[in-house]
Amino acid sequence: MLIDTAADFDVRDYLRKEMMPHFLCPGCGHGIALRALLWAIHDLGLDKDRLAVVSGIGCAGRLSAYIDANTFHVTHGRPLAYATGLALARPDLHVVVITGDGDCLAIGGNHLIHACRRNLKLTCLMLNNEVYGMTGGQVSPTTSETRLTTTTPLGNQEPHFDACALATAAGAGFVGREVTHHVPKLKELIKAGLEHPGFAFVEVQSDCTEIFGRKNDMGSSSEMIMRQKSEIRPSAYLDTVDTPFRSNALPTGILARNDRPEYGATYRRAAAARKGAS
Ligand code: SF4
Repeated sequence: MLIDTAADFDVRDYLRKEMMPHFLCPGCGHGIALRALLWAIHDLGLDKDRLAVVSGIGCAGRLSAYIDANTFHVTHGRPLAYATGLALARPDLHVVVITGDGDCLAIGGNHLIHACRRNLKLTCLMLNNEVYGMTGGQVSPTTSETRLTTTTPLGNQEPHFDACALATAAGAGFVGREVTHHVPKLKELIKAGLEHPGFAFVEVQSDCTEIFGRKNDMGSSSEMIMRQKSEIRPSAYLDTVDTPFRSNALPTGILARNDRPEYGATYRRAAAARKGAS
C-alpha cells in the first residue's frame, strides 16, 4: 500500500501496533533512529509492500519487528548475508538492514567488508551505542578506550573501530554518519543512503542509556544526547580515510560516495549474456 507522501508524517502509519509496547528502555537512542528511518521512508514514498527490513541480534536487531513491512529477524551477525540473497533474487524490493555495532562489526564483520566490496544495492543502518546492550553490557568493537563495560572492568584497553573508515576502505558506494541528536539531519542522511544505487552504509551514533550510560556515569539520557552534540564535527568528503580508528571528534554527514557498478545489475547482465550464448 502506498502512503500519501503529501500528508504529514505519522510514525504510527509505519508501526505494527500489535507489537506495542516496545521493549526499548526509556531514553534509548535506538527509538530515535527507528523514527528517523521511518520518516525517511515516508519522505521517499516507498511502498511498504516492497520494503524488506532485515535485522540481526541485539537491541538494534529487535527493531525490525516493529516495522509494518516485510521483515526478517535473522541469526547473529548475518543480516547482511540474508539481505544479499534477498536483494539479488528480488531487485524489485527495497532492502534495508538494521544492525548494531556488535552484530555488524564483530560476528558480522566479515559480511560487512564483503558487502561493501560487492556493492549490491541495499542500505545498511548500523546503530552504534558502543556496547552489547541486550546481553548485559559487554565490550564491543566500537567501545571507546577507557570505557567501562561488564567485560572491561578496568576500562577498555583496545582501540575501537571507526566503522565509516572501515566501510570506505572496503569500497562501500555510500558512507555516512549522523547522531541521534540531529533527527532531521539523520533523516536526510538515511534518505540519501536509501536513494544510492549501490551499497549504502549509514552509521547512527546512538546511546545505550540504561547499560552503557549507567556504567560510565554519563548522566541522564538528555545529558548523553547533549554530549553527542559536543563531539560531532560535520565533515568534508573522505575526511576520515586516513584515520584507522575513531577520534574523539566524530565526523558526520556523507563521508564517502562513489558510483561503482552495482553488483546485481552486473550479475543479471552476465547471466543474460550467458543465456543468449547457450
Ligand atoms: S539495553 Fe541499552 S540499547 Fe538496549 S534498549 Fe536498553 S538502553 Fe537501549
